[in-house]
Amino acid sequence: METTSEKVTVDLKLDETYGAFINGEFVEPSNGYIDAINAANGKLLSKIARCGKEEIDRAVTAANEAFKGWSTTLIEERSALLHKVADVLEANQDRLKMIECLDTGRPIHEFDLDYQLAIYQFRYFASAILTYEGASRPVQNGHLIVKKEALGVCAQIIPWNVPMIMVSFKLAPALAAGNTVVLKPAEDASLSTMEFAKLLQEVLPKGVVNIVPGYGTEAGQALIDHPDVHKLAFTGSVDVGRLVGKTAGERILPVTLELGGKAPHIVFPDVDIDRAVENATLGYTFFNGQSCILGTRLFIHEDIYDEFVEKLIARAKEVKIGDPTDRSTRVSALINEKQGKSVLGYFEIAKEEGAKILYGGNRVTVPGNEYGYFIEPTIIEATSEMRIAQEEIFGPAATVTRWSDIDDVIRMANDVDYGLAAGIMTNDLENALDTANKLQAGSVWINQYFNFQSGAPFGGFKNSGVGREYSKEALDNYTQSKTIVAAYQLPPAGFFK
Ligand code: NAP
Ligand code: MG
Repeated sequence: METTSEKVTVDLKLDETYGAFINGEFVEPSNGYIDAINAANGKLLSKIARCGKEEIDRAVTAANEAFKGWSTTLIEERSALLHKVADVLEANQDRLKMIECLDTGRPIHEFDLDYQLAIYQFRYFASAILTYEGASRPVQNGHLIVKKEALGVCAQIIPWNVPMIMVSFKLAPALAAGNTVVLKPAEDASLSTMEFAKLLQEVLPKGVVNIVPGYGTEAGQALIDHPDVHKLAFTGSVDVGRLVGKTAGERILPVTLELGGKAPHIVFPDVDIDRAVENATLGYTFFNGQSCILGTRLFIHEDIYDEFVEKLIARAKEVKIGDPTDRSTRVSALINEKQGKSVLGYFEIAKEEGAKILYGGNRVTVPGNEYGYFIEPTIIEATSEMRIAQEEIFGPAATVTRWSDIDDVIRMANDVDYGLAAGIMTNDLENALDTANKLQAGSVWINQYFNFQSGAPFGGFKNSGVGREYSKEALDNYTQSKTIVAAYQLPPAGFFK
């Protein structure tokens, strides 16, 4: 492994412990703490609260108290405060990016994208709420008003892969709409969220945001089961998503779910192969492969299949695997050993079911980071129905599958339980749009993967979820409409006789 040349150093000054953030204060947890570990070298970074029923109860009580004031705060003022949240996030981003890099093991350069999206989320919803109007019109002998009212206390649970993106996707629309929040970050990556809480402490009124880290089965479960929350929002695995949805069903609570993905990326024969290979490589290796939106099922037209795959492998060999804090690193440590073993296990499953590992498939050692699970970018030749091409691997791996008939490739692309994202590469825009119309996916990116644009709804078809984030539509998921019909006078006496 070559030695690192662009190592980024930031003075982190982490606290020794982070309590639960409740009602504007960090409070000592009753169950103690969980170690926050550097995913690459295994060193202890700090300790985060292991919240349980007691902390959840206090946090939900604080959020209910704060709701009265926050939901009636003028939208202009809420908007200004959300801009302030964006300002403090922007001002402190270098430090937070490094904390998140060490905590998650992801390459430092990626966090430029994460924080750009996160800062933008707060600014977007600070603005969107100003134009989020209900309706009002005169009716016979009176007036009709349709109001958008906040729901109350939102219980929000997020995963470890992109912590600050997740925090912003959850907090910004909920707060803009006048709700208060109790948020549980993932046990494996809570540090940047806890540091962000310190910034929120200076900006938002007490109790508007409460953060309760801990285990999913303790803090997470207690949060979704709490009788005084009014909305559930979850991002993570389908299994836990189903549980959250079931709880919402039993309690008749509104719910949004953003679950897994297994995105097809279809390559037509008219593309510039070098450019297409670059776009495909970004699409399956970014986030170390740990994201639900990655284009991990590559369908390549038979006319260019051999050349494309040869170049894809050559490009995979060039991907720099290294220390996460090196700016030139493109693939680094997975979140933890469990995830690493699961990814390697999938490569075994692939071989057993007859898929062929064309490149990669191994864990590599990065000096000084022997603890971490660094996995080579991996290219697997597979058929569309194999498990390796159907299930979320959550590592830097893609399957390659040959196609020749357009109807056939659309069938294969859609023949999966998920429907979060999809990609298409072709120079023929008519063909691209026609194909996009036939794909069962919440987001379709033509010729540029991860092409997130302002206000574009983000969310899943099929098992990938319920509801949309990132766009104004998210405000609908954090409000309920109230219809008020006012008649100017009572009807005349005896009108019902
Ligand atoms: P997960 O178990 O679904 O975790 C997501 C969040 O839910 C975490 O904060 C977790 O807590 C919490 N949680 C777990 N059990 C819970 C329960 N019974 N009640 C309430 N909350 C609960 O996902 P994971 O274990 O991190 O990852 C497993 C797989 O999920 C991955 O391999 C990947 O396929 C998928 N995933 C998808 C996304 C996505 O963005 N769609 C993100 C991450 C993972 P703790 O983890 O802190 O215990
Ligand atoms: Mg960690």
